[in-house]
Amino acid sequence: MSEDSESGDEGSGEYAYPEREIDPSTQKAFVPGEGRISGYISAILGISSFLGVLCFKYPSWLTTPEFRAAYDLTLLRQLLAASIWTSLAFGLFTFLRRQNKRKGATGIAFTLVALAMGGWEVQLGELKEAPFTVGVDWLVLSVLMSSVFVVIEKAWPKYAEQAITRPAWRLDLLYFTMNTLAVGILLLAGNKFAPAAFGWAIHDGFQSWVQSLPLALQVFLLLFCADFVFYWMHRIFHTVPWLWRFHAVHHSTMHMDWLASSRTHFLETLVDRSMVMVPLYLLGTSTEALDIYAVWIGFQAVFIHANVGIPTGPLKYLLVTPQFHHWHHSSQDPALDTNYAATFPWFDWVFGTYHLPEEHWPAAYGTVTPIPETFVGHLVHPFVKNELVPEKVES
Ligand SMILES: [Zn+2]
Repeated sequence: MSEDSESGDEGSGEYAYPEREIDPSTQKAFVPGEGRISGYISAILGISSFLGVLCFKYPSWLTTPEFRAAYDLTLLRQLLAASIWTSLAFGLFTFLRRQNKRKGATGIAFTLVALAMGGWEVQLGELKEAPFTVGVDWLVLSVLMSSVFVVIEKAWPKYAEQAITRPAWRLDLLYFTMNTLAVGILLLAGNKFAPAAFGWAIHDGFQSWVQSLPLALQVFLLLFCADFVFYWMHRIFHTVPWLWRFHAVHHSTMHMDWLASSRTHFLETLVDRSMVMVPLYLLGTSTEALDIYAVWIGFQAVFIHANVGIPTGPLKYLLVTPQFHHWHHSSQDPALDTNYAATFPWFDWVFGTYHLPEEHWPAAYGTVTPIPETFVGHLVHPFVKNELVPEKVES
């Protein structure tokens, strides 16, 4: 956050863009065949299998009501079986290679417990009304879906020397877990806020007209309106000093990758999700359009943080790319308080906050002034003053 929040590209003409340097001593890369990758895969899939079985046994508490209707139980059981066997195989491999055996043993132990509880043939528990749910189902599915991003990052890395286990990856994994488990609360808040605050603005005629539009146009309208709201919410979080203290948590990451997208203060996530839900609610598009929007935005939100250098050509003028959003996370002068949009970069172009120096990528990420780097430190950061946290950072 800086005082010259509308600087955009202005004044950056003479800026000499330095190259990013990654200190190899802070990174421990995975080397195939060593057994280290197998240990992680075994542990992740073992724990996921155990959580998956728990979801089958206690669906009322551990699965998200909004997602249940979409679940194909046969497919989920097949996934569970694949996860169990893969975890066991990779766990055994760590013992054969005598590397990372502790993680392999963790994977095997959780898998054996999952098998003892019924494995993929576990009986589905009774569905009852629950006062709240914890999104364990969403956590397990998110872990599986995240493998797509790991593959993309390895295939087209922007910083090939940046390891998956880069500094502070455990902190971001904790955010990933907590924010994913809270999906029920976030959905509930969003679904309640929009009708309560904007119920008066619903117009049946308008919604019928929207539903009569072609599906692609409905999806575009959703993306456009949601991104417009997101742009301004995001800009306000950068501009109002107290709100910046919440948003600084998201900006505190020094390494950009798919996992970095998870680092957000819970209260900011709550406000963001609730506000973005308003245009979706008012538009009243078809459920099919909403589903496509949800998948698109779910991918896009993670992808733009990813350590990915895929050439995007002219597409970068139409859609937000990793390069565009990486600049938003840069702590370099010309990029401070720019590139707020998450889907359409032209919102920044129209409102004077666009910064995309053709071939350059940031050399440094993070906040100009560091903030505490712990989960609890982040949680209380907006509410306590300390010497690490200035009221407003001067650029
Ligand atoms: Zn931001």
